[in-house]
Amino acid sequence: MDSADVRDDLDHVLYTEAQIMARLREIGAQIDADYAGRELLLVGVLNGAVMVMSDLARAMRSHMQMDWMAVSSYGAATKSSGVVRILKDLSCDIRGRDVLIVEDIVDTGLTLNYLLDNLRGREPASVEIMAMFRKPDALRVDVPVKYLGFDIPPEFVVGYGLDYAQRYRNLRDVATLAPHVYN
Ligand code: 5GP
Repeated sequence: MDSADVRDDLDHVLYTEAQIMARLREIGAQIDADYAGRELLLVGVLNGAVMVMSDLARAMRSHMQMDWMAVSSYGAATKSSGVVRILKDLSCDIRGRDVLIVEDIVDTGLTLNYLLDNLRGREPASVEIMAMFRKPDALRVDVPVKYLGFDIPPEFVVGYGLDYAQRYRNLRDVATLAPHVYN
């Protein structure tokens, strides 16, 4: 879905597909260099990270493996509840592995803070975070994001995996919604 397909629903586009892909190529090269000779396990956080996982994995030139977790998130509301619940756990044992959590967006940081603690308890060799977007003004806990796509203002955004009421995940760009969509 292109921004033009839902033009009336959008307020403004923050990042286009081309800008996102260009940034992911840089991050992919950085990850290749940082983990040279080690086979990284990318842990995607469902559902929002599906697009970034798929594009980041293909931007990398080294072998990697993939696993997924699902945690409770916003539902149809636009404010973080701060409640994190594991809906789907990893399929593999991460003990002794190099793990990179792949997340769509860091808002308050509560979700990633919880995930980081949880995964560290499983004794991986290392665990780091890659996030496509971060809202620095909304952070409530300090989360160490090693690889960051872009910092954005504290607005609710959709597209590139991010939904509103389960829609707009397939929008190629990342944009804010027009107020009439919430009403
Ligand atoms: P946090 O725990 O950092 O407050 O929120 C993390 C999760 O909230 C993200 O993984 C995402 O699912 C959701 N979220 C945070 N900000 C936004 C946003 O602007 N748009 C959408 N669609 N989801 C968001």
